Amino acid sequence: MAANSLGDHGFGRMHTFKPLLIAASLLALHGQISAAEPSSTYSKADLRAANTLRERASTDDTAYQLVQSLTTEVGARFAGSAGDRAAVAWAVREMQRLGFSNVRTMEVKVPHWVRGEASFTVLEPSSQSMPALALGGSVGTAPEGVESEAVMVKDLPALSALPTSAVRGRIVYFNNRMERTRDGSGYGTAVAVRAAGPALAGSLGAVAVVIRSVGTSNDRFPHTGTTRYSPEGPRIPAVAISNPDADALERQFASGKPVRLQITSSSRDLPQALSANVIGEIPGTDRAGEIVILGAHLDSWDPGVGAIDDGAGVAIMMGAAKLIRELALKPRRTIRVVLFANEEFGTSGSQTYLAASAAESARHVLGFEADFGAGPVWRLSSRVNPAQLPLVDQIHRALAPLKLERGGNEARGGADLDGLAKLGMALLSPDLDGTDYFDVHHTANDTLAQVDPAALRQSVAAFAVGTWLGAQNPGNWERVTTPKPPRR
Ligand SMILES: [Zn+2]
Repeated sequence: MAANSLGDHGFGRMHTFKPLLIAASLLALHGQISAAEPSSTYSKADLRAANTLRERASTDDTAYQLVQSLTTEVGARFAGSAGDRAAVAWAVREMQRLGFSNVRTMEVKVPHWVRGEASFTVLEPSSQSMPALALGGSVGTAPEGVESEAVMVKDLPALSALPTSAVRGRIVYFNNRMERTRDGSGYGTAVAVRAAGPALAGSLGAVAVVIRSVGTSNDRFPHTGTTRYSPEGPRIPAVAISNPDADALERQFASGKPVRLQITSSSRDLPQALSANVIGEIPGTDRAGEIVILGAHLDSWDPGVGAIDDGAGVAIMMGAAKLIRELALKPRRTIRVVLFANEEFGTSGSQTYLAASAAESARHVLGFEADFGAGPVWRLSSRVNPAQLPLVDQIHRALAPLKLERGGNEARGGADLDGLAKLGMALLSPDLDGTDYFDVHHTANDTLAQVDPAALRQSVAAFAVGTWLGAQNPGNWERVTTPKPPRR
């Protein structure tokens, strides 16, 4: 008994409705229907459209063409850079070309840090230079660099346990290894060293920090990402080295002889800059006031060209919305694609969006976020009000040809929709397979070569079907009232 049978489709079955149900459905047209509504199933027309989307996605290369265009014509697009501004213009142009409605930008103030050049040299016991990348936001060194004996620790608790005399005046090397997992859970535990290691080491009197990359590859590409100093504490330079170089450094420590290191970095902060969130829509029909938001981030780290992080997410969302726009049926709810500015260096884009839409945050009834690579999707998870779990089961069945596992209702979502989800917005999460994601994430190796066109098409299929059925929910997406766990 689908309330949306009274929408602009499904009229053929209206005669089966009893008057009471017609009245209930008319109420639904005004968005006033309550949780007391009869159990909800999708109309045949909506399920047929879902099949059409899935089939079309299997041969549609719009998403691949988008990520190719973004990585070729724009390339790296770190917040505040010229590439960042070019990406905003690119996104506006491409959304217009794909026929999205209400294409617009929302100005976002972003911090502007520039990397400069970094070098890392083992001076003793055996002299070697290794490729290094400054951690995002870290301060540079004097031109002659920082040179000192090094102390090796695993992680933050291990550093805290050392006597101050073992740290003061030293370079601290963190050797913590990240674990490879399909769902990315290894990142959350490993990233603490990158985020907070330099602040802690500085507070204990260290002069610089080196970390083993928070990544899983054995390529010689160091991994960057944000580090955060405490406002009062000292700010010391911090760099990452790749996993094979970390192995080599640890063999030098294993010799038992003192290890002396030298680091140079010309990283520095520039004045705040302007960027923008880019927004486009597929307008809804009878429930147009409700928004299904598709989030990805337009910015990238600077060493690579942001193909998997997050060019692929941008492409999946735009590709999915484009397929829905081309359907003969129109979505009930408005589908809004938001390409967020500056996810990587402080999430100022999503914070600006959240503040700007504070008055209408409750209109955001359902969210999808793609910020975990180029697929394939292997599971459908959710974070919905338990009353809507049968509906998620129906969506999972509609995705059956993609052979997705059925995940739990504890989806954590990504950084850009975190604020809306904390306010109770439901999340549907076609989970992207992250097994290889951290081989490439935040490295110079994040290029188009990492994107598999078939996996990207499959991901677009999963997001397109999920988004469509999310927008066609015959009932309501009720608010989620359980406290949202922190992101991993
Ligand atoms: Zn990302």
